[in-house]
Amino acid sequence: MDFPVIDIYLNKIEENALQMKAMLNDNNINLTAVVKGFAGDLKVFNCFQKAAINSIADSRLQNIKKYRAAGYQGEIMMLRIPMCSELEEAVKYIDTTLISEIETARAAAKAAVKLNKEIKVIIMVDLGDRREGVLAENLKELAAEIIKLDGLKLDGIGTNLGCFAGVLPDEKNTKELIKYKKELEKEFSIKINRISAGNTATTILLNNNELSSSINNLRIGEGILLGTDIINERLFNNLNHYNFRLRAEIIELKAKPSNPEGEMAFGGKGRNQILKDQGLRQRAIAAVGKQDIDYHGLYPLDKGIEVLGASSDHLIMDVTDLKRKIAVGDILTFKMNYSAMLRAMTSVYVKKNYLNK
Ligand SMILES: *Cc1c(COP(=O)(O)O)cnc(C)c1O
Repeated sequence: MDFPVIDIYLNKIEENALQMKAMLNDNNINLTAVVKGFAGDLKVFNCFQKAAINSIADSRLQNIKKYRAAGYQGEIMMLRIPMCSELEEAVKYIDTTLISEIETARAAAKAAVKLNKEIKVIIMVDLGDRREGVLAENLKELAAEIIKLDGLKLDGIGTNLGCFAGVLPDEKNTKELIKYKKELEKEFSIKINRISAGNTATTILLNNNELSSSINNLRIGEGILLGTDIINERLFNNLNHYNFRLRAEIIELKAKPSNPEGEMAFGGKGRNQILKDQGLRQRAIAAVGKQDIDYHGLYPLDKGIEVLGASSDHLIMDVTDLKRKIAVGDILTFKMNYSAMLRAMTSVYVKKNYLNK
């Protein structure tokens, strides 16, 4: 066995996809499964095909092409607002794209007309998280331009919260989206088919009947892959949790003073690793690093291990409080959050181990 390795629980991911679809269905919401978290891995993607998911979204055209080549026939949504430069190629493979810029819409329209195709557009509105999306006051202007373009159909409006600033989806901001939809329909005498109200974190609003009856699409990644909702700090109790787990090998195990020693770089602050002086502590280093994982998102399965940090290729831990005895050459297992999973799936140095149990 090569280390580090990521154990991927395929059947649990498939179960989660089915459960999430059913849960949203009960609220008359169509699930768009967000599959950007596993670097286009076709064995993981197959879980979504087996669960008969009819709408998926990815940020990377490279991955999208692979899904089509694997025979996926459902809706493919371009999840990241596209680059103008990729649209000529992208429109061959996608059905739908999120949009926030008129230049991008024009590039999409041009490419679609050339292919004699119609691409559905969901205009992204920034409701406060300050990542992608037009500000509300500019929504009508953008919508008016998109409606005029051949090759595009204005299919919906959407938003994304939580991912940059960490703004929570709530009744107030979600109701705004519903209000904008109605305004657009009135102003342009059109029907807006979809309100794509958000991501995993937005599912917390589902027990609010008023919202649930207006929202009809959610784009869900984390909930399916990990069974977690990190923004609302909760686990879905009907889903399987942490379906990607990392195993890494210990390459050094020694008692060391907890504090660094010597003149510190960067104006005396060093790399902000100054710890409180706890005297001698048992330290372990595992052979995995920033190139492979986001160490902030590693949760050791063993109690008594604290992840202190990482450099490119080393993961540094305090294992003083660990009850069981460990040795150099032993393997430690970690649950992973979304960003740790994302990086592990992308790293060519992390072996993938597919499990069905
Ligand atoms: C990543 C992403 C999602 C999915 O978010 P999760 O928290 O994983 O459910 C939805 N929408 C957009 C625009 C995204 O970039």
